[in-house]
Amino acid sequence: MAEHYVPENLPTRIQHYIDGKFVDSVNGATFDVLNPVSNTNYATAAAGQKEDIDLAVAAATRAFNEGPWPRMKPRERSRILNKIADAVEAQEARLAELESFDSGLPITQARGQAMRAAENFRFFADLIVAQFDDAMKVPGAQINYVNRKPIGVAGLITPWNTPFMLESWKLAPSLASGCTVVLKPAEFTPLSASLWAVIFEEAGLPQGVFNLVNGLGEEAGDALVKHPDVPLISFTGETTTGQTIFRNAATNLKGLSMELGGKSPCVVFADADLDAAIDSALFGVFSLNGERCTAGSRILVERSIYDDFCEKYAARAKNIVVGDPHDPKTEVGALVHPEHYNKVMSYVDIGKSEGRLLAGGGRPDGLEHGNYVAPTVFADVLPDARIFQEEIFGPVVAITPFDNDEEALELANGVKYGLAAYIWTQNLTRAHNFAQNVEAGMVWLNSHNVRDLRTPFGGVKASGLGHEGGFRSIDFYTDQQAVHIALGAVHTPKFGASTTN
Ligand code: NAD
Repeated sequence: MAEHYVPENLPTRIQHYIDGKFVDSVNGATFDVLNPVSNTNYATAAAGQKEDIDLAVAAATRAFNEGPWPRMKPRERSRILNKIADAVEAQEARLAELESFDSGLPITQARGQAMRAAENFRFFADLIVAQFDDAMKVPGAQINYVNRKPIGVAGLITPWNTPFMLESWKLAPSLASGCTVVLKPAEFTPLSASLWAVIFEEAGLPQGVFNLVNGLGEEAGDALVKHPDVPLISFTGETTTGQTIFRNAATNLKGLSMELGGKSPCVVFADADLDAAIDSALFGVFSLNGERCTAGSRILVERSIYDDFCEKYAARAKNIVVGDPHDPKTEVGALVHPEHYNKVMSYVDIGKSEGRLLAGGGRPDGLEHGNYVAPTVFADVLPDARIFQEEIFGPVVAITPFDNDEEALELANGVKYGLAAYIWTQNLTRAHNFAQNVEAGMVWLNSHNVRDLRTPFGGVKASGLGHEGGFRSIDFYTDQQAVHIALGAVHTPKFGASTTN
């Protein structure tokens, strides 16, 4: 097997972080963590059980009820959040190499993730100092105002694709809002989450505000979802897991925010800037190894440019550099885990009977070990094909032709998911009409996924519940209590004041 890069000082033991201390599971349980390039076990991580979640929730509850964090002035919290952002930025190179090593993401793309994580903290640091709430007046009668309060202990459950960045998505707004948290990161990629503990401690986050419990979804995740003292769960992951969590959270009627799977269309009309569309449609599905919730994994192309598009697209896909995630030339690295690799490969096999294979179709030449999949392109895929309907979450794309706007819309909307949509056309009227009718939480016209942090983020249909992003995230982590103040005499029917009895 070829030599590959292993970061220095790699921990071999990954622990929980509860009430300001790194600890093992109470019962000593652990699970193996694999490196996606060699699929060898490089570390063991503490496998949290119900009793570990209980300890973490107890610490977070104490910090919420008795500690300073929820009671601090927004500016004080904001200062700490900015220090966190500085620390994340300062550790960008280290974070990126750990993230790349643990998840198989190409190093150049892992760098961007650390910067984005820092930006999330800065954004919410700014937002909370600028935040104000409504006051409403009924002249002479009443004043009403909104008393916004952090809800309590937030349970944060995250997936393995871009783990550190996705954790920041939930950590930044929940902490900014004054909540205390228990984070349960994905078991495939537990390496970078421990860095938060050190960064937070050094930035001055009070003890017990941040707690981390590693472990399997069915054990640690499940216990967090079912814990009666955790009033809200922010979850990002698969749609089927979201459904399980939804059921399990019902007993305690928890607040839920769910960012789930996707099968997003990239629709290319004949009047599009073809070169730009091809660049974007390649990046949209092959960046982040295709392990991207908003991947444009179904490309719908107007028939008059279909052949030309397919030929150019496939030529470029064949030329994508697949290799060691640490090599800066690598464009597609190794998939996160052999289980996931097998799932993606099974779709590559299914695709061979559902579409015309134009590129890839298996393991790339020269990469005999590790979870490598060649960027794979299927054309002429019918809408009832499994590779058209189901989320593959790897470097595999389905291309389908269409004849007119109506058919394009029908194809775009003809799946259970509704996360993102990408539309390529120079026609303004068509672009806006299509954008408004496509069933997707987020639409990009003539662009891939470039997001302004103020905008809503979330999916419709099987892609999610609720929207986060900007003030919407703060809304999720806070209660908005309405306080009504009478300004004068209030008309009150006098029950029981009758003299006739
Ligand atoms: P997953 O659903 O398998 O796991 C996500 C997290 O949930 C992990 O931490 C896991 O341990 C935990 N979990 C699993 N079972 C659980 C249970 N019964 N109770 C509580 N927690 C449980 O998802 P994944 O494979 O890690 O991530 C890939 C999926 O995430 C894809 O479907 C992708 O589209 C989706 N995703 C969505 C977004 C978005 O914003 N919409 C972003 C990134 C990823």
